[in-house]
Order: sequence, then structure tokens, then C-alpha cells
Amino acid sequence: MPHEPKKKHSKSVKRTRRASILLGSADLMLCKNCNAKTLAHMACRKCGFYDGQSVKSVKQKAVVTRA
Ligand SMILES: [Zn+2]
Repeated sequence: MPHEPKKKHSKSVKRTRRASILLGSADLMLCKNCNAKTLAHMACRKCGFYDGQSVKSVKQKAVVTRA
């Protein structure tokens, strides 16, 4: 059959190839609502907005005020 590998790649060849595939940083976008850095195609973690509208409620940190 054609298109068969002629020889098995050694562990060293395989590991060297995979070591060169570096893990890049995630693509961060700026939220249009609050300008926080968010992952692309994900709702903003800070304000819960996606595509200009609120899609989830975000817990607000309780503000403790002392008199
Ligand atoms: Zn936001």
C-alpha cells in the first residue's frame, strides 16, 4: 500500500518534535462593556457580558462598611 511510513520514528524524534510545539498564551480580548481582559468567544468573567448583552449574572463582592 502507498503512503505507509517507511520507518518507525524513534521516541527521541517524536519527543523532539513535540517539544518544539510550544504552548502559546491564550487569546485575550478586551470586554466591550468593562474593558477587562477576557477570553475570545466567552462571556466576560467580570461583568457577564457577551456580544453587547448580559448573558450571566456575576456575583458582586460584598462591600463591608464600618461606621
Ligand atoms: Zn466585562
